[in-house]
Amino acid sequence: MNINLVPMPNEIYTDYKLFFRKNILENSIVEYDSKYSAEEYSITIDEKGAKIKCSGKAGENFAYQTLKQLEFSYSGNIPYLTINDKPAFSYRGFMIDCARHFFSVSNLKKMIDCAALFKLNKFHWHLVDDQGWRMEIKKYPLLTEKGSVRAYSNFGRDYDSNPYEGFYTQNQMKDIVEYCRKKSIDVIPEIEIPGHVSACLHAYPNLSCTDKEIPVRTHAGIFRDILCAGKEEVYEFLFNVLEEMSSIFPCEYVHIGGDEAPKDRWEECPHCSKKMESLNLMNYEQLQGYMTNRIYGYLQKKGKKAIAWNESLRGKNLEKGITVQNWREKNDECSIRASEGGKIIVSDFFHYYLDYPLGMTPLKKTYMYEPIPSALAENMKKNIIGVEAPIWTEFINDIDKMSMMSFPRLAAVAETGWTYKKNKDYKGFTHRLSYVIRMIEKTGLKYTDASQWDPGFFKSVVQVIKFAYNMYNKETLKSRKD
Ligand SMILES: [Zn+2]
Repeated sequence: MNINLVPMPNEIYTDYKLFFRKNILENSIVEYDSKYSAEEYSITIDEKGAKIKCSGKAGENFAYQTLKQLEFSYSGNIPYLTINDKPAFSYRGFMIDCARHFFSVSNLKKMIDCAALFKLNKFHWHLVDDQGWRMEIKKYPLLTEKGSVRAYSNFGRDYDSNPYEGFYTQNQMKDIVEYCRKKSIDVIPEIEIPGHVSACLHAYPNLSCTDKEIPVRTHAGIFRDILCAGKEEVYEFLFNVLEEMSSIFPCEYVHIGGDEAPKDRWEECPHCSKKMESLNLMNYEQLQGYMTNRIYGYLQKKGKKAIAWNESLRGKNLEKGITVQNWREKNDECSIRASEGGKIIVSDFFHYYLDYPLGMTPLKKTYMYEPIPSALAENMKKNIIGVEAPIWTEFINDIDKMSMMSFPRLAAVAETGWTYKKNKDYKGFTHRLSYVIRMIEKTGLKYTDASQWDPGFFKSVVQVIKFAYNMYNKETLKSRKD
């Protein structure tokens, strides 16, 4: 069955004999039935129009997206059909990095519209990093007054001598949350703990091990100045920030970072050593585990769950309840975690990072990626709760580039998230997508043309060389030694 829908519904029947000739969106009714699970829906289309059945808003929204795609592809000529549908994975996400480059609320809404089209249900909002703190926190005004501004931008070969700034007010963030809620998308805010915090430390140097003022970073990299794990004032700060975040973001998940945190400063810090000793910790990775667990404990009391990047597992003391987002391919630590009952979100950089050129990660590679490790026991496969594609923005500074890099590959990740493996098929996917992807234009965004989805060997080599060349500059290379 090849009907122009992405993601492909898990059950669909039609004999293409009779067709509905009017606007299907204007001729649909919804009937709630509690026997359906939250995201499940069914649609029957006959001479009366479309009848949707679902248990509530989420199923209704996803059914509506299916009807929108049908109306777009088959306008005035929709075959009578029956669809019974529910997702393969409960977590189907996209991440936008608004720290390296800032994207306006209206542009984010366009990206959200496109993500909703493919039934994604989690917007992971990367709001803070070394190059900018973009989330208004009223108790700590310097985070945005000082931390949202960098002196200039020097990402790879892109140099701009102008100061760069921008942040979201709490009202703007609430507006995004509400916009997403109507589309059954949860907004998961991320703050980075303990690394990737230069912008935060620029505003409040007392939160670092050294108390020294450091700049909001102007280039890409991994920086050694991180939050001190030994000072109690750091925990107080984080709890206060999370408290305010909870009033903005109702989602049960908060992402608390944890990636790429060098321990150089901790190793030289009397506060951190003292904390290690008092807790009998074996190494600094365990200190990161302790810090993450303590933040998680605070969130738990607020009725929240935490997500952390996979590096948080290194100390081998991470609380079982913390969901781990794995950005590394074939990460044994994550497979072990899942086999022991821990929850994992798959964001393998080699297949799912949308900021990489199609020459490096062609559409087929993204689509064919199987998120569940084959070695995982059958009864533990449910611990892989879903997939998420990040869009990092060191090298993406405008919305057109973002949407072109994201589409079509985000649609491929969405289909992996929604459609059962047995119903997936790459050839059918590209055929269906070549119709559906044109809906992106309606949101005012752009997408990459089908001729570039799988660029072939020679074009790929050129793209990869260009990408690697554009990534580094003198400042990036020097900062590795800072
Ligand atoms: Zn310290």
